[in-house]
Amino acid sequence: MEFNAQLKNDKKLLQHPYDSSIKPMDAFLIKKAEREFLYLYDNTSLIDGMSSWWSVIHGYNNTFINNALKEQIDKVSHVMFGGLTHEPAINLGVNLNNILSGNFDRFFYCDSGSVAVEVAVKMAFQYYMGKGLNNKNKILSFEGAYHGDTFMAMSLCDPVNSMHKDFGNILHTNIFAPKPKSGFFESYEDDHLDIAYLLEKYAEDIAAIIIEPVVQGAGGMWFYHPEFLNKLKNMCAYYDILLIFDEIATGFGRTGKMFAFEYSDIAPDIICLGKAITGGYMSFAAVGTTKNIMDVICNSKSVGAFMHGPTFMANPLACECANASINLLQKTDLTKTLIGIQKIISDYFAEAAEFPFVKDVRVLGGIGVIETFNNVDSNSLTDKFVKKGVWVRPFKNLIYIMPPYIISEESLRKLCKAVLEGLWEELSKK
Ligand SMILES: *Cc1c(COP(=O)(O)O)cnc(C)c1O
Repeated sequence: MEFNAQLKNDKKLLQHPYDSSIKPMDAFLIKKAEREFLYLYDNTSLIDGMSSWWSVIHGYNNTFINNALKEQIDKVSHVMFGGLTHEPAINLGVNLNNILSGNFDRFFYCDSGSVAVEVAVKMAFQYYMGKGLNNKNKILSFEGAYHGDTFMAMSLCDPVNSMHKDFGNILHTNIFAPKPKSGFFESYEDDHLDIAYLLEKYAEDIAAIIIEPVVQGAGGMWFYHPEFLNKLKNMCAYYDILLIFDEIATGFGRTGKMFAFEYSDIAPDIICLGKAITGGYMSFAAVGTTKNIMDVICNSKSVGAFMHGPTFMANPLACECANASINLLQKTDLTKTLIGIQKIISDYFAEAAEFPFVKDVRVLGGIGVIETFNNVDSNSLTDKFVKKGVWVRPFKNLIYIMPPYIISEESLRKLCKAVLEGLWEELSKK
C-alpha cells in the first residue's frame, strides 16, 4: 500500500498513546531503523534522540541481538512458565544476579514496566501479610514520580501533575511525600525530614516506599542527590517498611552506572527493571528481590505462594533478547561511553542555559534535559526537529534527549545542535 493510504488507515483505526481520536496527532511512518537512525518512506532519516522511550540502548537492528533472537525462534518461541522452565530464563536469572552485584537472588519475570510495578507492590503487601501485619496496605510515593499506566501504578504517580491525575477518585489512595530537593550535583540538604514526619505518622499503614532512584523520569526529569536514598533505607529499616526502587527508566547504564542505585551506598529490597532490559526489542520486565523476603511472602500466615503469573511470563524470546543485550552491555565500557555522551551533551546544552526562556539545564550520563519556564507546543517543536533530521519529542516544559549508547559522535553533535536551533527558532520570537 502506498504510504499516504497507510497513514490514513493508521488515523482511521489506531489509537496512539495519550492521543485524541477526534483530533489525532500526525504520526511519522517508519520504514526501517538501523543503529541510531529511523528511516522514513521518503528515504530521509532521523537521528533518534529518544531511544524509543529509554529502551533501544544498543541501537536498532543490532546484528548480535538479531542473531540471538533468530537462534531462539528455531528452538522455542514460547512455553508456559507454570511447571516448565528453559535455558533463556535461567541464564537471565544468573545474568541479572550478576550485574546487580548479588544484591538480589529471586527474580520474577513479567510483561511490561507497569506490570513490574504491580508485582513489586503486591510483593510488599504479601510480605506484610506473611508477617501478620495486614494493615500495611498503603505505599509511600513522591511528587514528580512516574510509575506507569496500570491502576496501582497510576496511583503511585504524582497526584497533581501527572498524566493520571484525573483518575484520582477511583485510584487506591497512597501517601505522597515532596520530591527530594537537593539536586544530583548540589550538596545534600536534609530533604528526608519531610519523609521522617510522614513515616512517624503513617508507618503502621505503609508497606513500602517506591521511588525512581536518582532520576525521576516521565514525571519531570529531575536528578536528585543519591544521599537521599541512603536516608530512605535507614528510615525503612527503622519503621519496618520495604524499599522499592523503580529502575525501569534508569537501569542498564543510562545514568552512567549499570544501575542508578549504585550512586548510593545501599540496595533496595525490591527492584523493578524494564524498558532497556531487552535492548528495546520487545516488551518485558523483571522484578528482583531476595529469597529472605520471598520466604516471608510465601509462608503459611500469608497464602503460601506468591500470587501472580502472567500468561507470557519468562517468554523465551524476550529472555534471550535480554541475555544478548546484557552481554553487549558487559562488553561496553559503560563509564567511558556514557561520560563521553554526557560531556558532549553538556557542552552543547550549556549554551541553552543562556537562552532567556530556559529555566534549567541538566545532564547526567546519557540523559540531557532542557527545562523551559513555560510549556512548549510539543507538536510544533517536534516538527521543527524533524525538519532538522532528529527525533525528539518534548513534553510540557521539558525538552530532553537520551540517545542510544552506540550513537556516533557526529550524530550526537548533530542531535544536540538541532535541539538548540529548533528550540531557539520556536521560542525566541515569542
Ligand atoms: C516507563 C516507566 C514505567 C512503565 O513501564 P511500561 O513498560 O511503560 O509499562 C514505570 N516506571 C518508570 C520509572 C518508567 O519510566
